[in-house]
Amino acid sequence: MNARVGLQGIGASPGVAHGPLVVLRDEVVELPAFDYPSAAVAEAMPEVAASLNARATSATERGQDEAGQVLQAQALMAEDPMLADAIDGHLSSGLSLADALQTASDELEAMLASLPDPYLAARSADVAEVATALKLHLAGVEASDLSFDEPSILVAVTLTAAQTADLDPERVLGFVTEQGGPTSHVAIIARSLGVPAVVALDGVVAAADGAAAAALDGGSGEFILDPNDDDKADFATRAERAAKIAEWAAGAHGTKASFDGAPITVASNVGNVSDIEDGVAAAADGVGLFRTEFLFLDRSTPPTEEEQYAAYRAAAEGFEDPVVIRAFDIGGDKPAEFLDMDEEENPFLGIRGVRLYEQFSELFDTQVRACLRSAAHGPVQLMIPMVASASEVRWVRTRVAEVRAALVDEGAEIGDLPLGVMVEVPSLALTSGAVAAEVDFFSIGTNDLTQYTLAADRTHAALGALQDPLHPGVLALCRATVTGAAPAGRSVSVCGLAAADPVAASVFAALGVDKLSVTPSAVNLIKATVSEQKPELRTRVLAALAEATDGAEFREMILDELILP
Ligand code: PEP
Ligand code: MG
Repeated sequence: MNARVGLQGIGASPGVAHGPLVVLRDEVVELPAFDYPSAAVAEAMPEVAASLNARATSATERGQDEAGQVLQAQALMAEDPMLADAIDGHLSSGLSLADALQTASDELEAMLASLPDPYLAARSADVAEVATALKLHLAGVEASDLSFDEPSILVAVTLTAAQTADLDPERVLGFVTEQGGPTSHVAIIARSLGVPAVVALDGVVAAADGAAAAALDGGSGEFILDPNDDDKADFATRAERAAKIAEWAAGAHGTKASFDGAPITVASNVGNVSDIEDGVAAAADGVGLFRTEFLFLDRSTPPTEEEQYAAYRAAAEGFEDPVVIRAFDIGGDKPAEFLDMDEEENPFLGIRGVRLYEQFSELFDTQVRACLRSAAHGPVQLMIPMVASASEVRWVRTRVAEVRAALVDEGAEIGDLPLGVMVEVPSLALTSGAVAAEVDFFSIGTNDLTQYTLAADRTHAALGALQDPLHPGVLALCRATVTGAAPAGRSVSVCGLAAADPVAASVFAALGVDKLSVTPSAVNLIKATVSEQKPELRTRVLAALAEATDGAEFREMILDELILP
C-alpha cells in the first residue's frame, strides 16, 4: 500500500471526486526532417486552423459554448500569420524547425503575457496551445487520448482548452494540473462540464508517480494521493453533504421565493445559449443579467443585428418573466479585438461600458435594434453597465428613442424596452433617489461595486481578501440604493456573484432587494434559503451594518440569526 500524500492547489471547478488515477506524461514529439520547413509550416497552419474550427463547431453542437468560444479564438490565432511569420524569421536565421517553433511560441507568449491588460495576457496560453497543435500536426502525432476505460482522476502538467473540451465527464471524475489559474479557460470549461478540478499544483505529476488512487475537492483545492480510510470517509461525507443540500434545495424547484411576506424574484444570469437552457430547466424567474459580451469578444468582427436578435429572442421565448439584456460591457478586463481603443493606464477606471457607446454609437444602435425586435417575442429590458450619473442614462434614452423611431418607420415588429442601470459605481448608489425618476429599475453589480468601493482590482490575485461584498461599506451602498429607489417604486435587484451565496442573498433580501439573479445551478438553493429566513433577520442586519467594520465582523454578528442548510 502506498503512503498517503496530501497536497494543496487552487480549487478551479467545484465538486468532490475520488477514484483511480491516470497520469498524463508529456511525450517527446520528434519532428521529421522537412526539405522545405518553411513551406511545411505554411501548409500545416490552415489545416491546424481548420481542425480547431471543426472542434469548436463540435463543442458548440454538444452545448459546450465556452469550449467552442476558446477553440474558435485559437482557430483565429492559427489563421493569423503572426506565429507562422515568427517561425519563418527564426528558420531564416538558421534555427532548426523544432527550435524555431519553440522560440517563436515562447516569444509571442511572453509578449502577450507582459501586456498590462489581463484579458490579452490570458491569450498567451492560446499561443502555446496553437504551437503545440502545429507541432503535433507536423509530426503526424494524434493528441493524447484522454478516453480511458475506467472512470478516473486525471493528473497532467497542463491540459489544452481543446483537450478539456473533449473530456468525457462520465470517464473523467476530476482533474488536477500543475499549471493554470482558477479563471483560466480550462477552469471555465471544467465548470461548464461539471468536472471538479484543482489547478496550480506545482510538481503534482512527479508526486503522483506510482500512486494508484486519489481524492480531490475542486472547491477547497485539496488533493490527496493514495487517500487512507479516514480521507475516504471525509470525502464521502463532503459529497453526501453536498448531495443533501442539493436535495433540500430541489424542494424549492419551481416555487416562488419570499422574505417577510414580500416576493423575491430569483432569476438566472446567462452568458450564452446553453445557460439559457439551464436557466429554463432550473425554472428561474426570467433572466436578471444576460451578459452579451460573449457575442462580442474573441472575434475579429462585431456580431450582426440578426445574430444578436436570434440570441435575445431565444431568451425572450424561453421565459415568461422578463429577460434583462445588458448592453455590451466592453473595456476593463474585456477588450474587443475589433474596437479601436486606446491603451489605458487603468482600464477598470477607463473607457468601459456606457462610456464607450457615444464613440461606438453604430455598434450600440445595432444592439438596441436587436433588443427592441426581440422584445416583440416576450418581455425584454435593457440594462446599462458602469453608469456613474444620470446624464449617461439620458443619452441612452434619447438614442433608444431614435432607434425605435427608425424601426417604426421600417415597419419592424418591436416591443417595449424598459431601461435600467447597473449599480457598480458608488456615485450612482448614493444618488439613486434622484436618478430613480429617470430609470425603470436598478440592478446592483456587487462584483464591480465591491472593486470600486474598496479600491481593489477584482482581478488582482493578492487582493482577494478585499473582494468582500459583505463589507459594510458595500452593504451601505446597497441599502442607499434601495432607500433611494423606494419612493419611486423602482425595483432593485442584485446580479453580482454574491447573489448566489446563501448568506449574502439572505442579507440582500433583508435589506429590501426584491430580485436576485444567479447562476442557473444556484436558483433552487437561493429560493430555498431566502424563503427560510425569519423577518427578525432585518433588524439584525441593520444593527450589524451600523457596528461592523469589515465583512468578517458583519458575518459574525448576523450568523446566529441566519437559517442555513
Ligand atoms: C458585477 O459587476 O457585479 C456584474 C454582475 O457584472 P460583471 O461581473 O459582468 O462585471
Ligand atoms: Mg460589472
